[in-house]
Amino acid sequence: MQTLQKRLAVLGFPVSHSLSPAIHTAAFEALGIGDGWSYEAIEVDADAFAAMVRSMPGEGFVGANVTVPHKLAALELADEASDRAREIGAANTLSFDGERVRADNTDAEGLLSSLPQPVEGRRVLVLGAGGAARAAVWALVHAGAGVSIWNRTASRGEELASDFGASLAEPDAAGGVLPAARFDLVINTTTIGLHAPAQPGADLKALRLDADSFAERQIVVDLVYGNEVSELVRSARERGALAIDGREVLIQQGAASFRIWTGREPPINAMREAIR
Ligand code: NAP
Repeated sequence: MQTLQKRLAVLGFPVSHSLSPAIHTAAFEALGIGDGWSYEAIEVDADAFAAMVRSMPGEGFVGANVTVPHKLAALELADEASDRAREIGAANTLSFDGERVRADNTDAEGLLSSLPQPVEGRRVLVLGAGGAARAAVWALVHAGAGVSIWNRTASRGEELASDFGASLAEPDAAGGVLPAARFDLVINTTTIGLHAPAQPGADLKALRLDADSFAERQIVVDLVYGNEVSELVRSARERGALAIDGREVLIQQGAASFRIWTGREPPINAMREAIR
């Protein structure tokens, strides 16, 4: 008897750049379950998103990842949601139980899992206040870190800080540079770094940082994953800081989604090798 394949997908717009199909397909193969599970990328715009999700259970899908720009809509249309998805206000993981849609958010867990040590009691500077920042700040505050936020548009930073009990970081009056050296961790959640900078130093400048911002004892996380090593990651490494790039965070959030769907321990190394 032929077993029905369990289908998974990532839904986004655009989505062709997504590394998630490669990560999950490698995981199925490493566990020897490639015949029973599949993962594909599906481009769907905002108008068609809800109808697409509702049609998926009937087409053999058991779940989906959701990426930009659908994370809010995914939470809104779900029949039930985890506490963390509700508190963050966005979902990146959907599971289908018959026609019922359950929403979860593994971005927060992915960030914490990518770090080499617990953040309790650590001072963390978060750059940015968009969707990725919301999950990051929620995760860090819940894990006991002291979080300060800087965002280009100050009002969004203020709103995020007030939602989750974080504080604000201010660039110094003299050079307009953030006092990053005072923090144990610096996390970039902005879109800066996706493409090579127009001039050397331009990305650091846009993030209100300079090369002296980093020190050996620090950990720097750049959520952005482009094709090149970002200026932020390179500068941090040059100063001896431990720098973690967006691919590692992506793998860890994917691993957490994989656990939810399959109930199995994800083969992290195979997932890493698939996109390195
Ligand atoms: P978003 O909601 O659109 O937020 C974008 C953020 O970037 C805002 O804080 C925005 O500031 C800031 N920004 C944009 N252009 C800027 C500039 N020129 N100078 C300074 N700040 C600027 O996007 P998102 O969903 O949070 O995603 C942010 C990044 O994280 C994306 O590159 C995404 O791919 C990445 N991400 C990675 C993972 C992972 O697993 N590795 C997971 C989620 C997201 P304003 O408020 O001032 O506009």
